[in-house]
Amino acid sequence: MGSGSGDGSTFYRIIMSTGIIPVSRPLFALVDVNNFYVSCERAFNPNLINRPVVVLSNNDGCAVARSNEVKALGVKMGTPWFQLKDLAKQHGIVALSSNYTLYGDMSNRVMSILRDFSPHVEVYSIDECFLGLQGLQSLWPIPTGIGHKIRHRIRQWTTLPVCVGIGATKTLAKLANHIAKKQPAFHGVCDFSTMSYEQYEALLSTIDAGEVWGVGRQLNLHLNAAGIKTVQALRDTPPAWLRANFGVVIERLGYELRGISCLALEEVLAPKKQIISSRSFGQLIDHLTELSESVASHTSSAAEKLRRQNSVCNAIQVFIRTNPFREQEKQYSNCMTVPLPNASSDTRLLVRAALFGLKRIYRPGYAYKKAGVILTGIDSAAVHQESLFTLHGADDRSARLMKVLDQLNQRYGRETVSVFSVGSNKSWSMQRESMSPCYTTKWQDVPIAYAH
Ligand SMILES: [Mg+2]
Repeated sequence: MGSGSGDGSTFYRIIMSTGIIPVSRPLFALVDVNNFYVSCERAFNPNLINRPVVVLSNNDGCAVARSNEVKALGVKMGTPWFQLKDLAKQHGIVALSSNYTLYGDMSNRVMSILRDFSPHVEVYSIDECFLGLQGLQSLWPIPTGIGHKIRHRIRQWTTLPVCVGIGATKTLAKLANHIAKKQPAFHGVCDFSTMSYEQYEALLSTIDAGEVWGVGRQLNLHLNAAGIKTVQALRDTPPAWLRANFGVVIERLGYELRGISCLALEEVLAPKKQIISSRSFGQLIDHLTELSESVASHTSSAAEKLRRQNSVCNAIQVFIRTNPFREQEKQYSNCMTVPLPNASSDTRLLVRAALFGLKRIYRPGYAYKKAGVILTGIDSAAVHQESLFTLHGADDRSARLMKVLDQLNQRYGRETVSVFSVGSNKSWSMQRESMSPCYTTKWQDVPIAYAH
């Protein structure tokens, strides 16, 4: 595929001079859901199809997802909603609050469909997934076929539209996906591996180098200044030159564009070493009671994440702050790290520690905008299970109780069962004025279909 000038890599020169391609040559697909949040909303509300739709960030701040109709109006990602109100009236833009429960569940559905196609899967983001296609040649002699099958099945089973890019490296698969999305002639699947040489070169010579995964704005400016404007030009730049000028990461990118895979699939997520749960309040709050409820709620969800990765933590940090943008008001922010007597993942123990810290940093008379917790000193639970001593929070009963808690909440929805301190009125919670129902995760929100 690559027709570059010579460079310092022996490996590369061997391939180019002998034409021998390694037998187990890797092949990747990148599957990406189009306008993911908007598409999830449309899946259950057909009234939104063909209408301009935006999904707003937490507290209904800015547009974080735009339908094609909204993109066509020139609305940029991250535009604050208040700036859009006139345009919205003019064009009938529908604005929805973000419904992360729905998006998370739809994402899981897409990923589980993809796991049927390949045993090698890297969930790259909520709506993007890399698949390893090597070894599947007998099932799919022409990789384009698997691309179309994936598209069709996800469409049929979830209604979500996806595009598929296929290439010899992750960087090429990502680029192919970009092309599949932008050029309707591909019908959603762009497969570099079966494309003719002429078509491939023609494509690469028309696409801006800035579209390559990992080429940021700054780097693109530098590349442009050096006369490297297209993906083709970037690929044909000697990797040694890229290394000398931009470092080893960009050199690797050069190899990836030449079809030499340097980035492996990351199939197993490394357990997180730090878990943060925090959020701005829907309105400013000043009472310790409400702050406590919010901190207890954040701690509960952080503890659940901790248990999901089979870990325990050694300490919890709690923090609160006022709104730094309201300069006319008194400002205060503080945090405190509370060490635990024993590593634990027990919600009750963590909440107690977090509230202990909160009481010490809380000062009355301030309008607080944000609170949260950070779990640190995270370690594998297995290491701690073998303890000879039955310690509070680390014992078997605690583990069983937490398991039941997680199962109930998973089955019946977030915070069906929670520790008492989380409270139930939630005056502090996020502003989400136009949130869609949790169609797929709450019994009372499951849509009803009528047949006549
Ligand atoms: Mg997407």
